[in-house]
Amino acid sequence: MGKMRGCIFDFDDTLVETTIYYDLAKDRFAARMADLGFPGEEALDILNQFDISNVLKCGGFHKECFPDALVQTYEYYCKKFGSKLCSKTAKWMADLGWWVFRQPTRLIEGARETLGVLSREMPLFLATKGDLEIQNHRLKESGLKDFFRAIYIVPDKTHKEYTEIASNNTINPKESWIVGNSMKGDINPGLRSGFNCIHVFHHNTWDFEEEAPEGEHYSVKSIREVPGIILKKG
Ligand SMILES: [Mg+2]
Repeated sequence: MGKMRGCIFDFDDTLVETTIYYDLAKDRFAARMADLGFPGEEALDILNQFDISNVLKCGGFHKECFPDALVQTYEYYCKKFGSKLCSKTAKWMADLGWWVFRQPTRLIEGARETLGVLSREMPLFLATKGDLEIQNHRLKESGLKDFFRAIYIVPDKTHKEYTEIASNNTINPKESWIVGNSMKGDINPGLRSGFNCIHVFHHNTWDFEEEAPEGEHYSVKSIREVPGIILKKG
């Protein structure tokens, strides 16, 4: 059996808004920290450090990572400034983290139309990091599930995962595509696995997801430009 072509999409900040909600929570967090007499803006850097170290420690984007990081940052500043830790405030911080996950799943403009056009031409796949329960819920809410032949919710997206997706679905990376907003999770491992890659710019991409591109790829400002590139390449 010959190998098919296919297209693997990223989910967060490629098809659905994600980081905007984290950024809103971070704004509120910085304001609250300033009210408490702590350096609000600087606390965002510490928050980011706790968040990344939590993600690395638990081997993926588990849902506790962000709420925990908010509380850890608050505790860090209480200790640093010799202030008494208030359990009510700590709970407010954790709740702010959980608030992010209760936000409605909002599609990125053009996402549905793009999947509609491409799904008539080739099988589509979804590969996303994130918490299994939360991602399953958001996928269902997005109404995009039926566009995909298979959905992969994985702890990390590296050369290994993309190669496995290609071989499990008999798709030929050389004739196939990876579309996503992250250099680190989508484009670079995609290039390493032999795929054609399209980077879709999103102004809210978390800096944890950024790194220098490792090779030639397409860059677009809107997901609406994706079918034109893929279908022109035949
Ligand atoms: Mg993404």
